[in-house]
Amino acid sequence: CGVFGIYKHPESAAHTVLGLHALQHRGQEAAGIVTFDKNQFHSHKSQGHVADNFNSQPIIESLPGDSAIGHVRYSTAGGGGMRNIQPLFADLASGGFAVAHNGNLTNAVTLRQLLVSKGSIFQSTSDSEVLIHLVATSTYQALQDRFIDALRRIEGAFAIVALSKKRLIGARDPLGVRPLVLGKLSDSSYIFASETCALDIIGAEYIRDVEPGEVITIDENGLHSLKPFPVQKPRPCIFEHVYFSRPDSLTDGTSVYKVRKHIGRELAKESKVKADLVVPVPDSGTPAAIGYAQEAGIPFELGIIRNHYVGRTFIEPSDQIRHLGVKLKHNANRGEIEGKIVVLVDDSIVRGTTSIKIVDMVRQAGAKEVHLRIASPPTTDPCYYGVDTPEKDKLLASRMSIEEMTKYIGADSLDFISIDGLYRAVCDADRNPDEPQYCDACFTGEYPTHLTDKNQHDAPE
Ligand code: 5GP
Ligand code: SF4
Ligand code: MG
Repeated sequence: CGVFGIYKHPESAAHTVLGLHALQHRGQEAAGIVTFDKNQFHSHKSQGHVADNFNSQPIIESLPGDSAIGHVRYSTAGGGGMRNIQPLFADLASGGFAVAHNGNLTNAVTLRQLLVSKGSIFQSTSDSEVLIHLVATSTYQALQDRFIDALRRIEGAFAIVALSKKRLIGARDPLGVRPLVLGKLSDSSYIFASETCALDIIGAEYIRDVEPGEVITIDENGLHSLKPFPVQKPRPCIFEHVYFSRPDSLTDGTSVYKVRKHIGRELAKESKVKADLVVPVPDSGTPAAIGYAQEAGIPFELGIIRNHYVGRTFIEPSDQIRHLGVKLKHNANRGEIEGKIVVLVDDSIVRGTTSIKIVDMVRQAGAKEVHLRIASPPTTDPCYYGVDTPEKDKLLASRMSIEEMTKYIGADSLDFISIDGLYRAVCDADRNPDEPQYCDACFTGEYPTHLTDKNQHDAPE
């Protein structure tokens, strides 16, 4: 998902619409905005894309006020449906409180059972709703303390923006698994966003990343930084660099695009092929393919053309749509491919649906050989932190060896970047096996937090 928040700007709703539009790649199922006009909260939520649903003057005018938060949703927990669209909103004793959450909580089911047994009535099936109930039932007085009390009880991954009558809050989980950045527009207006591309679109200045474990509150007196959690070594999501973030965003001040090209270069060093052409699987494989081609000294061509009127195939939840999506999305550029030995570069293999179709398509277009190179290690384990990978048994790399995958996909050869190669591209160092610098659980099975819900579920009766 993507989150956005803006404090003290006369056009807070319009800016939030633009910010969410820039974050659309992080979630395409639904979008929502909540504003506060010093008197009242206002909200508009809708299924579908931001540009299709927040595009009229009457909608913007129905969202008055100088502070706002917004959310684009991609459901990883709790499913779709109107009642799960964020920001979630509650009328607490202290006044209204709106919350937008990116990430996934790994003890939400457990907390929910506890809260329900004590009388909480849940409105949605979203894991994020436990936050609202934890705030509502906290024994602290001030809203800010209640919120921090709630944050201390959740586990997993979260980048949260919240809006109360008095303040805008941005919070990042102690490991910093999901990203959140701070920006500024004019003298007085602060912004939180999942990625810097949402700052660029409104002409805001990137100040810095919200730090792992940091809670920043913004009110009449300016900005206040709190560190309410025990300090841990950060473990940001390494897959943001590979796939999830937009290439024009910066993480910790570093260009995602440059890192992706670097991944491609490392991949070429590790896994060379004698070939005529390097062809990206667009768009997600493109920067890595450029890096691969530069390092290997092989010409780069757009041998596959992407239809831009289809969203990310993976993101729609049903298998049927996902299936259809791949065919709708790519077409081979025959003139470039025919008779050539082609290195295809993609960012990842999840179920293998994309790779099978693309390799077949490139062969049909007359390629002599097709060698597939993947800019991440084999995805062997599900993500419990807000990226929608399926259960382990649906992950191709958890069921098959590389040799079996090569046959299944129908490529002449298949190879993945090593985990150390990926680390070198992202942070210029090998993975530290004792204290990994990133979350890489979907590639290693080493989860950096407790998985309370999963362990309860898996426990013998
Ligand atoms: P597959 O077809 O193997 O199931 O998925 C791989 C393709 O989906 C890759 O081209 C990659 O760009 C994209 N992809 C990989 N991981 C994710 C994800 O977590 N979410 C979305 N939306 N797409 C993904
Ligand atoms: Fe990112 Fe993978 Fe960790 Fe999920 S499991 S947070 S996708 S690195
Ligand atoms: Mg892709």
